[in-house]
Amino acid sequence: MQNVVIVGASLAGVRAAETLRSGGFTGSITMVGDEKHMPYDRPPLSKNYLAGEWEEDRVALRKPEVIQELNLTWKLGVGATSLNIETKSITLADGSSISYDGLIIATGGVVRSLPNQPQIDGVHVLRTLDHATALRAQISEGTQAVVIGAGFIGLEAAATAHKRGAHVTVLEGLEAPLIRALGAQMGAAIGAVHERNGVTVRCGVQVASINGTSHVESITLGNGEVIPADVVIVGIGVSPATQWCESSGLTIRDGIVCDANLNAGPREVFAAGDVLRWPNELFADVESDMRVEHWTNAAEQGAHAAKNLLATFAGEELVPYVAVPFFWSDQFDARIQCLGRPSANATVDIVDGDLESGKFCAIYSVNNRLTAVLGVSKPKLVMPSRALLSQHTTRDEALAHFQKVVEAQAAASQTPPSAS
Ligand SMILES: Cc1cc2nc3c(=O)[nH]c(=O)nc-3n(C[C@H](O)[C@H](O)[C@H](O)COP(=O)(O)OP(=O)(O)OC[C@H]3O[C@@H](n4cnc5c(N)ncnc54)[C@H](O)[C@@H]3O)c2cc1C
Repeated sequence: MQNVVIVGASLAGVRAAETLRSGGFTGSITMVGDEKHMPYDRPPLSKNYLAGEWEEDRVALRKPEVIQELNLTWKLGVGATSLNIETKSITLADGSSISYDGLIIATGGVVRSLPNQPQIDGVHVLRTLDHATALRAQISEGTQAVVIGAGFIGLEAAATAHKRGAHVTVLEGLEAPLIRALGAQMGAAIGAVHERNGVTVRCGVQVASINGTSHVESITLGNGEVIPADVVIVGIGVSPATQWCESSGLTIRDGIVCDANLNAGPREVFAAGDVLRWPNELFADVESDMRVEHWTNAAEQGAHAAKNLLATFAGEELVPYVAVPFFWSDQFDARIQCLGRPSANATVDIVDGDLESGKFCAIYSVNNRLTAVLGVSKPKLVMPSRALLSQHTTRDEALAHFQKVVEAQAAASQTPPSAS
């Protein structure tokens, strides 16, 4: 293998490039990215960067000298528009084409828009650095901000906008925030954190239109009510960025369909990050395959895909990507952490704290099998539970485990410090 192309110059792509180099690959690596920026980190875009606490240099994924050492060829600001797996070549938006011996697809997600979303000033989405820069310039003391969609990004943006002095209303079509991600009960508990901090959260409401001529002025709800708005943030999720390779012959079903090794079909094509779905052996009994839109997954899969690409050309056995997914989210002073696969249809048990205080730990089980551990400001309970999730622990075993751990933590916190 002489020549690797990585499409998608962000987290998964950079981790893939680093792993190729650390794995001894000395051939050419071309990074193709449709954004003009060098790779940067997305989580701060809805947090410290949107808050105005960090500037662009702080969100860079790697320092310039670290990037330099990787000796990569950069094609930035020019997206891939098609993939030919027979000729092993990619066409770019400027009409040029690049051929490859090995390909890693890491194109992530494309933010969704509402069907009737007007292209007027003040209406924002939040996925890229440019989006965040445009949004933060319009949020200040007294801004009337309306967030459409109570998913993680919308809620984080709501918390940050409120922190900057905006009056924030969150509109959600379902009956609670975060239902698809966490289920109704936990979603409502996180919605309550926002309410306690002064954000208005309205669930079960439909947006009929976003109004304004050159700048947004208001939102009309399905019941005719009009909500004034200086800024609207549409946070209704992302779709995998597969449009450019749809005619390639790769299997695509809400993401590039990969095998357990993150291989996308042809032996020299792998994928990593938000863009793919794969069968995760650890959860095979509850989900035949999964697509994960979180930071840790993208970072780990970038490295894993690169290792398997190197193994392919070295004639070595490929290794399946088997993982307990993890994510975090910061909203006001709530640090949300979750290991595993929470789902709306799971049985949820609160194993520590209570919903009213906004500090709690809950476990999710499906068919009496522990599938996720969710903590709100409970880091000492969530992070050590990875082993439980990788061992097919039953709900009863998990309940007993947490009871013991919580009792031990309570006893430890009551022990007076030794008088030394
Ligand atoms: C505002 C925000 C906050 C977040 N906060 C958290 C958090 O707190 N915790 C957490 O776990 N996760 C968080 N995430 C999710 C996390 O950032 C993503 O899971 C991660 O960035 C995915 O990495 P990726 O490399 O797979 O894709 P991406 O980061 O989406 O990168 C894909 C890159 O490919 C480019 N691309 C797309 N199509 C093409 C094409 N045809 N040709 C060339 N380039 C293309 C895209 O423009 C992009 O630059 C957040 C995401 C956002 C947007």
